Amino acid sequence: MRSESNLPKLIVNAIQNVVGKKPAPLHEPTFNGNEFKFLQECIESTFVSSVGKFVDQFESDLCDLTGAKHAIAIVNGTSALHIAMKLCGVERGDEVLIPALNFVASANAISYCGAHPHFLDSDENNLGVNTEKLKEYLYNNTKQSDGLCINSSTKRIIRAIVPTHIFGHPADLVELQSIASEFNLALIEDAAESIGSYYNNQHTGTFGSMGILSFNGNKTITTGGGGAILTNNSFIAKRAKHLTTTAKVKHKWELIHDEIGYNYRMPNINAALGCAQLQKLPEMLQSKRCLYEKYQAEFSSITGVQLLKEPKNCQSNYWLQTIILDKEDKNLRDEILLLTNNVGIMTRPVWNLINELNQFSENPKMDLSNAKSLFKRLINIPSSSNLVETK
Ligand SMILES: *Cc1c(COP(=O)(O)O)cnc(C)c1O
Repeated sequence: MRSESNLPKLIVNAIQNVVGKKPAPLHEPTFNGNEFKFLQECIESTFVSSVGKFVDQFESDLCDLTGAKHAIAIVNGTSALHIAMKLCGVERGDEVLIPALNFVASANAISYCGAHPHFLDSDENNLGVNTEKLKEYLYNNTKQSDGLCINSSTKRIIRAIVPTHIFGHPADLVELQSIASEFNLALIEDAAESIGSYYNNQHTGTFGSMGILSFNGNKTITTGGGGAILTNNSFIAKRAKHLTTTAKVKHKWELIHDEIGYNYRMPNINAALGCAQLQKLPEMLQSKRCLYEKYQAEFSSITGVQLLKEPKNCQSNYWLQTIILDKEDKNLRDEILLLTNNVGIMTRPVWNLINELNQFSENPKMDLSNAKSLFKRLINIPSSSNLVETK
């Protein structure tokens, strides 16, 4: 599969000029703040599980950061998506719109509700949902009936749209809000990758009726495993807390559960880690932006490849740095992946399109030409916040 191009070699040099020659993982966490202190405090308190002061603190810190009225800490981002789907009324047999170029979590969460993911095409500028194509698609392929959006070919209710802020780059949120309201769709933001990312100076995850975050080990900040639901709606917040804490009714000693609930509460020991990580978020964001600038200085002189930049009017967290090949050439992509990984530079292609996974291959979808093209052209390069010293 050797190509004539010397692009793979140029890319290796560009990355090594920034991160040096020692092995560079794609994304590793940094623990250089109060992590040990808070974990020790948590263990000494004996409250390591589903109640404790760190969970409350973490939720309140998340509200301060994002400007959301409520944050509910949850075991992981996928479970947060599951509860968010339920709370916006996703029922068995419904459809929910999600990008095809996406992590599989939202497709799974939709499926847990007995509903069907319905796949959308991407926008090359922000890697999120292409709102222009989406609008036309909805005009031509859906009908409104009693305030519900109906898929004209499957006759199923399309209940919600769940855009993802891919690699930390905000999707076109204002346009998505307007489409959601015009077509009677609930808007939930998958902001799992975008803590610290802003659209028009407003934190991602606060534009929809709910947004979800993830604190998995590979994300910008981590709680080991963890997630959260953000919402400004007090009723939804109350329901989210109740459903994720086994629907247990508050009482001094009685053990009553008033509906089918979930054991999805984030443990206190994970929240302790999260509280320490959140204190360091501003520093990490600064380092990641600095890493972007150093990469940009290198990549700007290479033809055939671009480094992905934050969208207009947005501040991205630069969770994963991403290069885009000009040409749709999967062999070239694979050659770059091989050469970089061989010299210890961990790079990864983007996810396989979800509609091409066996379990979702029969699901409804729009024309996915942009997503298919991006799949052959996107590569993530080392992105940890500890890779460069901040200025
Ligand atoms: C990480 C991630 C999630 C949630 O993942 P968990 O591992 O369950 O916390 C959801 N959506 C996207 C886009 C993600 O990257």
